[in-house]
Amino acid sequence: MIDFSLTQDQENMLEAVDRFLAKRLPPSEVLKRDHEHIPPYDLLPDLADLGILGLPFPSEYGGLEESWITLALVQERMAGHAYFAASIASRVIAFGGMSLMSYCSEAHKKEWLPKLIAGKALFALALSEPQVGSDASAVQTRAERIQGGWKITGRKTWISDAQGASHLVVPARSEKGSVGTKGMSVFLVPKDAPGIAMTVLDKVGNSCMPSFDIGLDDVIVDDNALLGEEGKGFGHIMSTLHYSRSSMAAAATGCAQSAVNIALEHAKERVQFGRPIGKNQVIRHRLADMQMRVDQSRLIVRNLAWLIAQGLPCKRQSAQAKVIATDTLQYVTHHGMQILASAGYSSDSHMQRMWRDARLYSFGEGSNEIQRDLIGREMGL
Ligand SMILES: Cc1cc2nc3c(=O)[nH]c(=O)nc-3n(C[C@H](O)[C@H](O)[C@H](O)COP(=O)(O)OP(=O)(O)OC[C@H]3O[C@@H](n4cnc5c(N)ncnc54)[C@H](O)[C@@H]3O)c2cc1C
Repeated sequence: MIDFSLTQDQENMLEAVDRFLAKRLPPSEVLKRDHEHIPPYDLLPDLADLGILGLPFPSEYGGLEESWITLALVQERMAGHAYFAASIASRVIAFGGMSLMSYCSEAHKKEWLPKLIAGKALFALALSEPQVGSDASAVQTRAERIQGGWKITGRKTWISDAQGASHLVVPARSEKGSVGTKGMSVFLVPKDAPGIAMTVLDKVGNSCMPSFDIGLDDVIVDDNALLGEEGKGFGHIMSTLHYSRSSMAAAATGCAQSAVNIALEHAKERVQFGRPIGKNQVIRHRLADMQMRVDQSRLIVRNLAWLIAQGLPCKRQSAQAKVIATDTLQYVTHHGMQILASAGYSSDSHMQRMWRDARLYSFGEGSNEIQRDLIGREMGL
């Protein structure tokens, strides 16, 4: 049975998150960073001190051994302040740490988990390529075996935080002539390795999460760079996606709640025709629909977190949570913009920032069409 009450430890953690982010990322600072495109790497040591980066990991690597439910609560709360804070934590935990836990050797766990948990390493996933978007099995980047290591050649694109990361996680074709899901391996490549060239990409939102086009020109790595089993790379990457989808869904829910709160406040304060605009039924119903969707997202996110915490299968539920929460965030920011009208269209408004950011999440990390396909297949279609 799912118990929605919070433990004292969870309450304490959420209060610590609120205190920290109110101090380091007050709303004015969030907007400033958005305008000036300042990424949140400077927050990593503090997130580590708060214990957030080690939440779900065993204590032998420096983790807190907390349940995935605590992490979902923290992600939701952080994204309520600033989505990018939740996003950088998710890159460390859901993507970096859980990849190590899911398919890497004990030696790699010992080498990298303590550094990730301490905020001293950051991995960026370099999967997408010019011809590889939704179809992750179409990877063309090649890894050729050489004496004592590998030579990697190819091009990756839209890679978030690549410049601020310590390493790129690069899926590449290690079996010559292989196609589809077979013959791929995953490599941990230092981001400054000779042969790597990065170009920053301009985009409409998520300004605190820079994106890069990356050329890999005969990049040499040693044998230790191979993560997991040779030739099993596609399965390795797929095996961790429910963690990042859970994080994204929790963060989208927290951000969506903030958007509703801002719209609600505006509906109470903005007076037209002699009364607050929220007194018009059309606005009241719109806000009711927005809150209902956020509450639905929260429930499905908590259900997913509970399944992960119990170690139960959750492929369908993680795809569902990702779709529902990211669609909800788009819905509430779209209607939030309508309720705020000109006040929302100002570049000083948080609503426009969230509205622009939200557009990414329904196609990033596996588009919502691909998620619906997966849900259908899990239903036996
Ligand atoms: C800001 C940003 C950050 C990103 N960060 C990263 C990152 O850190 N690492 C990384 O590896 N990648 C990253 N990406 C890439 C991202 O994962 C891809 O954009 C995403 O996988 C979708 O691929 P695509 O954009 O090429 O769209 P496409 O795959 O070309 O799809 C276009 C449209 O067609 C639909 N579609 C495609 N195939 C099907 C199908 N079979 N059935 C139904 N509909 C279909 C899609 O849902 C979508 O609506 C990022 C992208 C952006 C914009």
